[in-house]
Amino acid sequence: MSQPFQKKHLILLVDDEEINRILLTSIIEDRGDCEILCAKNGVEAIDLCLKYQPDLIILDILMPAMTGFEVMEVLKQEAPTNQIPVIFISALSETNHEAHAFQLGACDYIHKPFHADIVQARLGLQLKLIEQRLILDQLAHIDPLTSIANRRKFTHDFKNQWLKCQDENQPLTITMVDIDCFKLHNDSFGHTSGDKVLKQVAATLSSTLAALGNNKEHLVARYGGEEFILLMPNSPVEDVQHIIESCRAEVEKLDIRVQQTNDTLSSFHNNTLTISLGGITCQPKKNLSPNWLLNAADDLLYQAKKSGKNQVHYRNELLNHANFIDA
Ligand code: GH3
Ligand code: MG
Ligand code: MG
Repeated sequence: MSQPFQKKHLILLVDDEEINRILLTSIIEDRGDCEILCAKNGVEAIDLCLKYQPDLIILDILMPAMTGFEVMEVLKQEAPTNQIPVIFISALSETNHEAHAFQLGACDYIHKPFHADIVQARLGLQLKLIEQRLILDQLAHIDPLTSIANRRKFTHDFKNQWLKCQDENQPLTITMVDIDCFKLHNDSFGHTSGDKVLKQVAATLSSTLAALGNNKEHLVARYGGEEFILLMPNSPVEDVQHIIESCRAEVEKLDIRVQQTNDTLSSFHNNTLTISLGGITCQPKKNLSPNWLLNAADDLLYQAKKSGKNQVHYRNELLNHANFIDA
């Protein structure tokens, strides 16, 4: 949220009558955990919503110029505001008005004249539901072992960033990362030690990307067992190449000891755990597909493995105008 609010929840209160705004403000303030924004008409409400994206809206229906129903219809059409829960609060008491509010997607309907305890209880319930949704959302997008993003989160962000880079004519880089000879590490030191290594590698990739990329849209995710993936939209080729190589070097610097066998003598570098990386940058276009990019990164990773591991294979596709169709 692009605003300086400190408290847990940001509530937007919309009512054309000042007395209602004052009364509702004091009821909400009694909770002690909410910041309140006030609007006295629909246009103001929509502006504030787009600017601050509040956690919840309390919306009057009968207002001059624009009704609460009309405000809600506009909010539902805008991506940044269409998920914000709305509680209608209105003197309209007929069942069809209440039914219409729910059809538009309202989460609750409070009748005027309102009673402080009822507003408190219903507001409290909606805020609890918002908190629970947040927790569920985090659980659904975080890998429990390493605490970084999981594959579901990557797939979601990758799809969005692909479209965004396509619209804005920006490059998009992805990099597949795979720990070298990890099975041997597990076989030699046990699964618990392997899990610890996965956490260390995840943390190192994250901190390297954060330090060198300095881009909020970059993402490191655990893609599968001992595979990770880096998503770097909107970054120059020289920068991403530097980040990818630094990830390799930083993991090597962790100096995690590995056990050698005759079969792996040539795979390990100084008895230290390493990673191989396959990275590719392209300009997303309608005639390219995200799957094509994923497969290309996978091929590059395979080449890095085949060429001796602990290395980066990278390709810049920005100058290649050939058309690729989804396989
Ligand atoms: P390569 O250098 O070709 O990548 O060889 P590798 O041994 O790393 O690859 P392979 O695919 O043969 O083995 C991957 C291993 O990763 C096998 C599996 O036990 C281990 N692994 C996958 N997920 C986890 C996990 O969550 N924890 C632990 N400890 N090990 C895992
Ligand atoms: Mg693997
Ligand atoms: Mg591996």
